[in-house]
Amino acid sequence: MFFTDLLFPKHCLGCSILGAYICPKCQRQLHYLDRNTCFYCKKASLYSLTHPICLKNFNITGLTAIFSYNNLLKKIIKNIKYRLVTEAWKDLTRIIEPEAVRQIGFYKRISKDFFLQPIPLSKRKIRERGFNQAFLITRFFQAFLDFPISDFLIRVKETLPQAELKTKKDRYNNLRGAFKINPVNKSKVIGSKIILVDDVVTTGSTVREAAKVLKKAGAAKVYVLALAKG
Ligand SMILES: [Zn+2]
Ligand SMILES: [Zn+2]
Repeated sequence: MFFTDLLFPKHCLGCSILGAYICPKCQRQLHYLDRNTCFYCKKASLYSLTHPICLKNFNITGLTAIFSYNNLLKKIIKNIKYRLVTEAWKDLTRIIEPEAVRQIGFYKRISKDFFLQPIPLSKRKIRERGFNQAFLITRFFQAFLDFPISDFLIRVKETLPQAELKTKKDRYNNLRGAFKINPVNKSKVIGSKIILVDDVVTTGSTVREAAKVLKKAGAAKVYVLALAKG
């Protein structure tokens, strides 16, 4: 036991039991994504790549994740976002099965020159939280994928959580214009292959908007890799 454990005892983020951020019982409630599907038609697809017939101009070429999103992951991710950052995150990465991570290795076979691009937070949010959780997740994936982390996107608009918005129009307006290309790296985006990284993808509207901005700026391919997919 570490000294810090005495000062701040660990409680399970799922069931509150003392001893670990994710107790063994709750660990069994984490479900790995076991079905590979096309993001657009939801039918089966190898490595969750978008079927050629479903792939339009500004579309995502493939979208995959480690976990399937459920209530427990919702709690864990929320906690990682707002307080327990490093410790809870370390516990989560420790219990991810190597096999689940190995599966995302197909990216290395697709191309050797991908960039990993975390979904950016606005400057204000970074100041509030002190870090971007998508960046932490990107670093975790980078340990396996070995691609450089890019700084192609900036977030210029605060957005509300998409789930809080009722109509399709509100959701569209919420994200429209949220991202811009980082002017410093404008030329590097042209012809690039990018893997966007985010914590959770549910409706996919955030990554869709980010992919559109990157593709309009000349990116050749945009994929998405998330910790969890809903
Ligand atoms: Zn528990
Ligand atoms: Zn499809």
